[in-house]
Amino acid sequence: MLEIKDITVTTVDDKKILDDFSLSINNGEVHVIMGPNGIGKSTLSKAIMGNYQYKVTKGDILFEGKSILGLSTAERAKLGIFLTMQDPMEIDGVKLSEFLKTAVREVTGENVNLYDFINTVNKTAEDLEMSTDMLHRSLNKALSGGEKKKSEVLQLKVLKPKLIILDELDSGLDVDSLKLVCKNIKDYLKENKDTAVLIITHYPRILDYLKCDYVHILLDGKIKKTGNMDLAYEIEKNGYGVNEVKEETSNE
Ligand code: ADP
Ligand code: MG
Repeated sequence: MLEIKDITVTTVDDKKILDDFSLSINNGEVHVIMGPNGIGKSTLSKAIMGNYQYKVTKGDILFEGKSILGLSTAERAKLGIFLTMQDPMEIDGVKLSEFLKTAVREVTGENVNLYDFINTVNKTAEDLEMSTDMLHRSLNKALSGGEKKKSEVLQLKVLKPKLIILDELDSGLDVDSLKLVCKNIKDYLKENKDTAVLIITHYPRILDYLKCDYVHILLDGKIKKTGNMDLAYEIEKNGYGVNEVKEETSNE
């Protein structure tokens, strides 16, 4: 589904953040990228989404076999890529419900049946234990960190993406909310078996609630090590052990 081939990503002022980074994700797989703060995890998610603050100066990103580098963020969303952001943006004057309706219309290219739409959104909000008055407040405005994250997951469940990227989903969520949000994502994956997930985190707690197939460690702009859940638990126990990881991979 997603094939990232040897990309170099820089900021607009040419600071190199990812270098020779490669990753392939197939339908139905759950991948985790772990790495210390400031290593480039959010940059990766934003480069996949086509954020204008980052440039892919080398390599290619393919989605379902086609390069998406020339596409806008909106076009990438239309293809079925969804990013829950580490720090969701606040937009004053745009209600979450209005935003969602427009997003569904844009992504599906169809007119939204208002009755079905309201039912779906209300049901989804209920599953996430969100009060429905949040739907009528400005997007992410005056919401707690946890409520913003729930709002992102609500959007995801309504928009039905093929590839879900979760950037530090656990930040701002208390343990009960994290469990609930992960249960919602698991239910979504059960109903949409081809959906792939890329979980980005610096802390493996989320993996107690969302099982993954592959764990990758991001260091020095690229994936230094790949393993299964055990690798995540090893990191939890011993830290990123930056030097050890480097040595192990250089001996391979
Ligand atoms: P992570 O998500 O792994 O914590 P980020 O991808 O947010 O890390 O950032 C990686 C590095 O790039 C950090 O040193 C950060 O300060 C820097 N960085 C990220 N975005 C920008 C930007 N738009 N302009 C300049 N530097 C940036
Ligand atoms: Mg980040």
